Amino acid sequence: MKFSNQLADIYVPDPGLSPEDALRRVTHLCVVAHQDDIEIMAQSGISDCLEQPAKAFGGVVVTNGAGSPRSGRYGSYTDEQMQAVRREEQRTAAKLGKYSIQLQLAHPSADVKRSGHAGVASDLAAIFAACRPEVVYLHNPADKHDTHVGVLLRCLEAIMALPQESRPARALGCEIWRDLDWLRDADKVALDSGRHPKLARKLLAAFDSQISGGKRYDLAAVGRRSANATFFSSHATDQLSGITWAIDLTPVTRDGGPSVQDFTASLIAGLASDVSQRLSKLR
Ligand SMILES: [Zn+2]
Repeated sequence: MKFSNQLADIYVPDPGLSPEDALRRVTHLCVVAHQDDIEIMAQSGISDCLEQPAKAFGGVVVTNGAGSPRSGRYGSYTDEQMQAVRREEQRTAAKLGKYSIQLQLAHPSADVKRSGHAGVASDLAAIFAACRPEVVYLHNPADKHDTHVGVLLRCLEAIMALPQESRPARALGCEIWRDLDWLRDADKVALDSGRHPKLARKLLAAFDSQISGGKRYDLAAVGRRSANATFFSSHATDQLSGITWAIDLTPVTRDGGPSVQDFTASLIAGLASDVSQRLSKLR
């Protein structure tokens, strides 16, 4: 297994598995922009795989994490040193979460923000062709972080280049930068991210270089899961202790399906009509 950037990192926590076998068995694949995005948005998939021996989780981080803010102990680190720290943190999380494989493709962020970068395209094409996941966790199209949306669009391009029968059975766009609570209930998927709470905290805490500067992603991610579960329904008691909201992007990955832009615009129009109808009804 070889990727286009020479700093790409292939990590298989189980020493008895080859990278090819570790990727082939993946049933729950998560492809994200940065180190720690997987652990913020795919706790539900990580939990599914821990609970079912036949399932296997695979993580892919597309960028190199070079531009991340740094302070405190990491304040004087060069971009290169920071990339090495973040690579190691991601490996630690993969081991803790018993992922089948963790790939870090090490692309500069600028290379995913435009279509047609040959290295990004060939890496993602190779990954999606080498496994047949039942679900793939991606960034969501209403995210406000350019690199997240860039990675999402590159993933959709790679998926659409596959024959339809080889595409992931289901594609979900998950919340990070901008949550998805605003979607109409019928338009959103509740991912049960309240399971394995101790492990969830450890996974998030693995990214010390991101947290120690004062950005408490660990607390924020767990708090958001809890808030989502409580504020989901005003009448029912909480069924789940944590929810991560997602958009079902599967229609966008099918021949003849809507463009991701039209699909997202229709979801936003759904919110507008929901708000407007309630105001009219209660006038
Ligand atoms: Zn990110």
